[in-house]
Amino acid sequence: MIEFTNVDKVYPNKVKALENINLKIEKGEFVAVIGLSGAGKSTLIRCINRMHDITSGSLVVDGTNVGKLKGKEIRNFRKKIGMIFQSFNLITRTTVIKNVLVSFVPQLSFWRKLTGIFSKEHKLQALTALDQVGILEKAYIRVDQLSGGQQQRVALARTLAQNPTILLADEPIASLDPVTSKQVMDDFKRINQEMGMTVLLNIHHVEVALEYADRIIGVREGQIVYDGSANEVTDEV
Ligand code: ADP
Ligand code: ADP
Repeated sequence: MIEFTNVDKVYPNKVKALENINLKIEKGEFVAVIGLSGAGKSTLIRCINRMHDITSGSLVVDGTNVGKLKGKEIRNFRKKIGMIFQSFNLITRTTVIKNVLVSFVPQLSFWRKLTGIFSKEHKLQALTALDQVGILEKAYIRVDQLSGGQQQRVALARTLAQNPTILLADEPIASLDPVTSKQVMDDFKRINQEMGMTVLLNIHHVEVALEYADRIIGVREGQIVYDGSANEVTDEV
């Protein structure tokens, strides 16, 4: 599903964020990337949906050689890869359902969609995604009236509505309290188990990673220093 072969990533300022990464993730795995701040976790995840370009090596995601994509191909590829951020990236001054709808309804311009009329089928698709993360009853409430955890679930629903093949998350619980973090992590787990979705996330809290992920990847100074099951992790990481 995701295969890194000898991947390096050097930023324009010469910082080597990834060094000789070799990594294979199969369909349906739940993987957490852990490591100190600055280790390269975020870079690793952001190369997968081509938010960052790799510098050398090869990266194949769902059969696509990511480094070779150009222009419009990159945009189309990104639609297949769901991405969740720490900062939700929602349109806070409109309703939950519109946030989901604008993410996948084609053709209409962005602003048209914000004021526009949507088909029953599209609304059903959006409501189904909201139901999958347990916030169906919030569909017609403005995003800025929701808690942080609820907002992250809207972000999750928005991503699911696009039918991604992989779900990536860059520090999805970093700005949430422990109770809300647990709810969001439970959502990821459910999506992984019930839908068979491949989930790869990076996370600060090692104990949360160990509790939820099947596989842990430890990163230090741009290199993978641990790759194995959660119950075999030692103090080394
Ligand atoms: P982590 O997610 O583990 O905190 P990052 O992947 O964000 O680590 O960063 C890895 C290294 O790359 C750090 O030294 C960071 O400062 C650097 N870095 C990250 N993003 C950029 C960027 N856009 N330009 C230059 N350097 C960057
Ligand atoms: P996050 O961990 O949520 O990505 P950061 O604070 O690490 O947030 O980084 C914010 C932005 O700045 C990111 O786009 C990252 O790529 C970029 N960045 C991080 N470190 C550096 C750096 N040393 N030089 C330039 N850009 C950086």
